[in-house]
Amino acid sequence: MSMTKKPIGPDMEAPARVKALTDASAIHVDPDRNPNLYLRSGRELIRSAASYQEDGQTEHAYMLYMRFLTIFLDKIRTHPKYNEVPQSERKMMSDYCNKILPQAEYLKKELLRKYEKEHKEYMEHVKLMQQQAEELRRKEEAERKAREKTMPKTKPHPLVGAFGHPGSTLRNDDDYFVPNPDSLLAMRPGMPVHGTWVDPHDLRDYTEPAPSAPPGSSTSPMPSVDRSTKPDRFLTPMSSGLRPMVVPASLPAQFLRLAQANTGKNVETCGFLTGQIRGAQLFITDLIIPKQTGSADTCAATNEMEIYDIQDKYHLMTLGWIHTHPSQTAFLSSVDMHNQYGYQVMMPEAIAIVCAPKHNQTGTFMLTPEGLDEIGNCHATGFHPHAKGLFADVHHCTFDASLSVKVHDLRR
Ligand SMILES: [Zn+2]
Ligand SMILES: [Zn+2]
Repeated sequence: MSMTKKPIGPDMEAPARVKALTDASAIHVDPDRNPNLYLRSGRELIRSAASYQEDGQTEHAYMLYMRFLTIFLDKIRTHPKYNEVPQSERKMMSDYCNKILPQAEYLKKELLRKYEKEHKEYMEHVKLMQQQAEELRRKEEAERKAREKTMPKTKPHPLVGAFGHPGSTLRNDDDYFVPNPDSLLAMRPGMPVHGTWVDPHDLRDYTEPAPSAPPGSSTSPMPSVDRSTKPDRFLTPMSSGLRPMVVPASLPAQFLRLAQANTGKNVETCGFLTGQIRGAQLFITDLIIPKQTGSADTCAATNEMEIYDIQDKYHLMTLGWIHTHPSQTAFLSSVDMHNQYGYQVMMPEAIAIVCAPKHNQTGTFMLTPEGLDEIGNCHATGFHPHAKGLFADVHHCTFDASLSVKVHDLRR
């Protein structure tokens, strides 16, 4: 399935924006997944949320707390195997919920205040850019009239301007001034607006004219803003604000050596990337290779609890996963994307490293906001088709050659 949802941004009124964020934190609980595993990842969610809150990243903290509450106040209780979760664990989770509820409420209020301020700023910005565009139009109009007075009545051929006459004679009088969105959003009062004059007939490909200015009329064209070029402060929270992650540069090569026997048999190998949060940075320090089964295009851990035991013992957070594609190139298959979704909803910075030795490729990927949206709403299993562009190369990772990784190979 494909969904095109409006990005969450400051053009929205504050309560609607908070609601959109709350809706985006909803998560599907898989009835086939061991409920104890949700409990383990629930603790990670809280740790992750708390670390965001410490960093002042209110959106991420709020979303993760809300995600926790959706799972443990609601969805997990209808899990067919919920009664298999020990009573003590259930009690602990409901205690956590009681602690987290007021936290989430507090963050919600904070977000409402922040969003109200941003929405006000945004609306002022829009008003300002409309005024500026209108001023420019008037100025051009006045110039045109002045020219008409001093020039013969016949219009010069548009191309005349291209062969020597300065400036605006190249343009038709009916043309729209379409301000460059970058210029508009970076705009401060008094700054010139950069833009392009376009023929109204070309406008449908360029921008949507506002209803007050139908193509062909020469009154007050409304500038339109291309969201894809918005500066950072107007981006949706989940596509920005990822904390930097440091990965030991030798990790993929080391993993490939450990995977060699499988790779030789055209069988995939997988491992878990774990580590710590230090300050506002994430460090992958440990690679856990679980007991697993694999095929040419799949691999799965067979005892996830064992992995959590190692993590508890060494205080390691889950930061992503790594796997080989013994014969294929480096990309995320539909199954990989669904896997990655599970990581990324728990830890927004979580990465997927794919090693494709046959093609000498190593990819470091994560789901895009569209990917999170689409995969989160897809309940298909096994390999199935998905739209393109749901995952992309990461931008928040650096590979550090001075660091090494500790390996826990549980297969032996
Ligand atoms: Zn794969
Ligand atoms: Zn799917």
